[in-house]
Amino acid sequence: MEQNGKLYLTSDENVLFDNNYRYKISKPEIIYVNKKGTNITILDNFDKFCTELIFDKTLLIKIIGKQLSCKTGIDKSTNKYYLQGTYTNEQIKNIIYDFIQKYLLCVNCDKPEIDLKYKKEKLKQKCRACGNNTYLQNHNPDIIHILEKL
Ligand SMILES: [Zn+2]
Repeated sequence: MEQNGKLYLTSDENVLFDNNYRYKISKPEIIYVNKKGTNITILDNFDKFCTELIFDKTLLIKIIGKQLSCKTGIDKSTNKYYLQGTYTNEQIKNIIYDFIQKYLLCVNCDKPEIDLKYKKEKLKQKCRACGNNTYLQNHNPDIIHILEKL
């Protein structure tokens, strides 16, 4: 999903060669800090990243924490979200990219123009681009539980 330093919101590899592709955002970046003997991984540009992704940062941080089985919080000195422990950028990106592919791209047209709603214990995906309206299948119960807040 990455090309020219950007994250392309698509599951179509061919789109990576299209410089005019509309849906590209910043890549997630991390920094490592030791706080009073505890290693933490700070999600450096997370606010900006979630704004560009148009997704609730409080839900996305919970999803990342759940997938890595680690505590999350906000670092008071930088006011940025962190994960307790040391995780590679690759681990974090894999979780985020997988989430985007499974939940935030339209199952019909692949565009990230999705309104996600929790309804009747399922996730409903409505696409603003093509109008497709679908209940998502086979999703991770941990993620569903977090997204009940939608
Ligand atoms: Zn669509």
